[in-house]
Amino acid sequence: MTQNAEKGLLLTGPSQEVFDIGGDAQTDVIVTPIARPVPVQTSGRTEFAARCPKCGDWHRHVALGLKTAPCGAIYELKFKGAA
Ligand SMILES: [Zn+2]
Repeated sequence: MTQNAEKGLLLTGPSQEVFDIGGDAQTDVIVTPIARPVPVQTSGRTEFAARCPKCGDWHRHVALGLKTAPCGAIYELKFKGAA
């Protein structure tokens, strides 16, 4: 008997930040701002810092893509020139 069953590795991808938009009147006209990430090497991984287009502060993320910042701003985190 093998008791060697591997425990499922908890692969946490980029967290899926769900944002519930209150009121749906202007859902279609929201233009997502773009924030340019600055790679930040931390212990064990690379994070991306970005200047928030809303509050002007720096927020950190662990992956690129559409982000919801702690301040509530939503922006797309991507490098200049990236598709
Ligand atoms: Zn912000």
